[in-house]
Amino acid sequence: MTRIQVLIVAAGRGERLGGTVPKQYLPLAGVPLVRHAADGFTGHPGVTRVLVAIRAEDRALAEACLPGLELVEGGAERQETVLRGLEAMEGDPPDLVLIHDAARPLVDGACVDRVIAALSDHDGAIPALPVIDTIKRAGTDERIAGTIDRTTLRRAQTPQGFRYAALLAAHRAAAPGATDDAAIAENAGLDVVLVRGSERMMKVTVMEDLMLAERWLPVLEPRVGSGFDVHGFCPGDHVILGGVRIPHDQGLEGHSDADAGLHALTDAILGALAEGDIGALFPPGEMKWRGADSAIFLAEACRRVAARGGRIAHLDLTLICERPKIGPHREAMRARIAGIAGIEPGRVGVKATTTEGLGFTGRREGIAAQATATLLLPALAS
Ligand code: MG
Repeated sequence: MTRIQVLIVAAGRGERLGGTVPKQYLPLAGVPLVRHAADGFTGHPGVTRVLVAIRAEDRALAEACLPGLELVEGGAERQETVLRGLEAMEGDPPDLVLIHDAARPLVDGACVDRVIAALSDHDGAIPALPVIDTIKRAGTDERIAGTIDRTTLRRAQTPQGFRYAALLAAHRAAAPGATDDAAIAENAGLDVVLVRGSERMMKVTVMEDLMLAERWLPVLEPRVGSGFDVHGFCPGDHVILGGVRIPHDQGLEGHSDADAGLHALTDAILGALAEGDIGALFPPGEMKWRGADSAIFLAEACRRVAARGGRIAHLDLTLICERPKIGPHREAMRARIAGIAGIEPGRVGVKATTTEGLGFTGRREGIAAQATATLLLPALAS
C-alpha cells in the first residue's frame, strides 16, 4: 500500500489579519484553522501520518490546539519550514507527501483523492482553479497597461502532492524565494500536473474569508454512544486499564491486552457512529489481535470519526472494580486516552466505583467498564 504523509505548514506569521494570535490559530466555528486543516487529513484512509510545522515561539499554543498531533519546528521562511518538515519524515519516509497550508481549513476529500491519483503518473500534482475575473496589468498611477489572457492562467491551491524522495531532493537543491512547492519542483525539472481544485479549499487571508469559510462548514449534530465491557481476572502481575499499566496481584484475561476501559470507549464511539462494534472490526478469532495494544482499537474508532468529518466532544469512562485502586492512575488514564483520541484532556472523564462487594466485580472475579462518547457529526439524511 502506498504510504502517504501530510505536512501542514503552520509556521507563518499571518500578519495580514492583524491581532496577536497568528492567523492559523484563529477559531472557525470554535476550532482553530490549523486543527480543521489537520482533521481533514487524519481521517483520510490513505494517510498514515500528519505532521504540523509550527513556529518555535508558537509551541505552547500549538500543543494546546493540536493535542495528539506531531509537531515540527519550522524556519523563518516557508521554504525552509517545508524542508524541515520533509527532513522530519526521513526516518520513516513515505512514498508520497502532501503539503498543505494551515490557512486552508476546509479540506475537500475528493480533491485530495484527485491529487493522490495523479501521482501514479506524475512526480507532482497540485489542485488549481481557473481564473474567473478579467486580469489587468497595472501601469503607472494605476492606469491600465494591458489585459492578460486568462484562459491559460490557474489559481494554485493546496494540498500539493509529490513523490517524497523527488521533492526532498528538489528542496535541498533549491535556491530560496519560492512561494509554493510546485515552483521548487518545476525548477528541479519534475513533472508537475494540475488537477481540478475546489472552491471549498479557499485560503483564509482577510477577516471576511473567515465568514465565508464558515458558510462552507457542515452543520454538526450531537451523537451519543455507549459502550460496556467486562474482562475476568487471571493469574498475572499487572492489568492494563484506560491505556495505563497498573501493577496488580492478578492479570486480566482476554485476546488482546484486555483493557476493558479502552474497549468500552471504542464501542461508545462506534455506537455514536452507528458503525458496528469492536468485535466486528477486530474479530477476537484473528491472531493478529492476540495481545494487541487496545490503543489501536480506540485510534481506529477515532479515525472513523475524522473520516466522517466529525469531532469528539467528550469521552466518559467508568471503571467498576474493588481492586486495583483507580484514583492514583486517573490523571494518567485521562492523558493517555486524550492522546490516543487527539483531544484535550479536559474532554476526557475517568471515574471509578465499586459494587459494594456485590456481584462478580464485588467478588473480585473481574472488572467492568462502561463508557459514553459524545460526538459532533455532520448532519446527514441517514
Ligand atoms: Mg473487551
